[in-house]
Amino acid sequence: MTWLALPGDCPYGLDTLPYGIFSAGAGDPQVGVRIGEHVLDLAGVAGATGYEYADVFAQPSLNPLMALGPTACRGVRNWARSLLSAESERETVSPHLLDISTVEMRLPIEVADYVDFYASESHACNVGQIFRPDSPGLPPSWKHLPIGYHGRAGTVVVSGTDVVRPRGQRRPGSDGMPLFGPSTKLDLECEVGFVVGQPSSPGHSIEVGQALDYIFGVVLLNDWSARDIQAWEYVPLGPFLGKSFATSISAWVLPIEALDAARLPLPRQVPAPLPYLSADGTSLFALDLRLEVTLNGQVISAPPYQEMYWSPAQMLAHMTVNGANLRVGDLFASGTVSGWKHDTFGSLLELTSDGTAPLELADGSARGFLEDGDVVTLTGWAPGPAGTRVTLGEVTGRVVGSTG
Ligand code: CA
Repeated sequence: MTWLALPGDCPYGLDTLPYGIFSAGAGDPQVGVRIGEHVLDLAGVAGATGYEYADVFAQPSLNPLMALGPTACRGVRNWARSLLSAESERETVSPHLLDISTVEMRLPIEVADYVDFYASESHACNVGQIFRPDSPGLPPSWKHLPIGYHGRAGTVVVSGTDVVRPRGQRRPGSDGMPLFGPSTKLDLECEVGFVVGQPSSPGHSIEVGQALDYIFGVVLLNDWSARDIQAWEYVPLGPFLGKSFATSISAWVLPIEALDAARLPLPRQVPAPLPYLSADGTSLFALDLRLEVTLNGQVISAPPYQEMYWSPAQMLAHMTVNGANLRVGDLFASGTVSGWKHDTFGSLLELTSDGTAPLELADGSARGFLEDGDVVTLTGWAPGPAGTRVTLGEVTGRVVGSTG
């Protein structure tokens, strides 16, 4: 229980407590913890109570906090929880609680490297059928390794940031010359992002069983995708300008330990992956995350994360098996989360069969792909301890017209 007056269905209760970077008025950006409709100013309350990490909380990204390591971070979370639980702390803590409507949220992490995987079998099959109708849906390597590519870390933006429709080349018209202009197939991808909090050494591979020592937390992530640019450019080196213009993440990073009750055994993988991607059942965890995609206020899909084929632990092991080292602030994303049913697909590409079967929206309009002014919001929750719910920070963004 908390001494704050929170409604019973409050999405940011004591079992969630995500971290973010906020600024209030002309103040410098710093670390906050979300509780209900409030942000707890950690630097302020640490200064008032003599807690040791006041300087870490005064930083403009979560990277210094994450770098303290999993044991210290668990201590910080327990400290914040106790401040918000014990009635005796109310008088000390209350002056450091800010109404969420009075603060501005910033990008929570300084993104080091950004990798995007492709871990949903349903999504991979659907995309394969659309992009390569004459080939098998899954590439031959798909069930042997979690396929991924390096994205653009510098264009990761915080929830609420407008996304400018990208311009680029599209498949040639009848004269054989590529078309050029604003994308006509701008899409969303509903994904889960994992934030790395610990570095590793060059030449050192992370084992699947060590993944939770390196993953600090989880964000929701929208991998905006220009399908027409992507389709023309992606052979043979993969996505480039069709993806790199913007990737949105939630302002709130949910610590991975908040998802302890949401961990599930990973469904059996056939064929069995190579030994470096294998472990006992607990290391190869799945996550029971219930996601929703909302377009202009209307829910258009409910992707189930627990159906993902590859575990985040396998993604991390694969990402480092060649000796590539991790840095604090690395971000790796799951790839589009799609279930097997139509209303669980995590992209418009799949929901509308590449625009050929537009979605009918409640306002009478139809969407094959996104139009200027459209607002896309991803939300999610997971089972918490003792029947509670843990909330994933939402990520939202509005499409604005191309400036060129
Ligand atoms: Ca993606």
